[in-house]
Amino acid sequence: MTRLLIMGPPGAGKGTQAELVAKRFGVPAISTGDIFRANIAASTPMGVEVQKYLDAGEYVPDSITNEMVRDRLNESDAAEGFLLDGYPRTLSQVEFLDGVLAESGTELDHVIELTVDVDEVVARLHKRAKEEGRTDDSEEVIRRRQEVYFEETAPLIAVYSDRGLVFKVDGMGMVEEVAARVADAVSRPPHG
Ligand code: AMP
Repeated sequence: MTRLLIMGPPGAGKGTQAELVAKRFGVPAISTGDIFRANIAASTPMGVEVQKYLDAGEYVPDSITNEMVRDRLNESDAAEGFLLDGYPRTLSQVEFLDGVLAESGTELDHVIELTVDVDEVVARLHKRAKEEGRTDDSEEVIRRRQEVYFEETAPLIAVYSDRGLVFKVDGMGMVEEVAARVADAVSRPPHG
C-alpha cells in the first residue's frame, strides 16, 4: 500500500515525477491541477467556475477542491494507494484529507518534498508555458504562483515533518535521476 504526496514549488517537476513514481508503484497519480484544467477544457460547470482562479494564479476555494478530491479518492482505483500531486495546499486541506483517510481507516505513508533552485524553476515554467500554450502561465502569474506556494503551502511541510513523513528529494538533474531518488525515498520506512 502506497499513499503518497508530492510537494514542491510550481515548476519543480512534480507532475513528471508524480507520473513516473505512480507508475512504478502501481497507483494512480492524482493531480488536482490536471483535473481543474480538464474541467476547464470541457467547459463543465465546475470548470467555468474555477477558470478565473487558475488564470490569476490563485487557489481554487477549498469548498470546491476538497469535495473533488474526496470523490476522486473514493474511486476504486485509489483504494490500494495513490499519489497526490498538488493537494493538499492549505492547512484546511490537510485537515480535510486527514478526515477522508480516517473514514477509510488509512493514512499517508510518505510525503516527498522536491527541492529546487528557484531561478531554474522560473526558467522551466517559461519553457513549459510556451510548449503547452498554458493560459495560466503569464510572467506575472508565474511569480504569483510562486508567492502563493511559499505563503500557503510551504508551511504544510512542517506539519508533515512533525509526523515523520517528509522525505526531502533533490529535484535538480535529469528526470530519471530524480525519479530514482524519489523511488528510493518511497522505499524507505517513514521516520515516525
Ligand atoms: P498545478 O497544476 O498543481 O500547479 O495547479 C494549477 C492551479 O490549479 C493552481 O495554481 C490553482 O489555481 C489550482 N489548484 C490546483 N490544486 C489546488 C489545490 N489543492 N487547492 C487550490 N487550488 C488548486
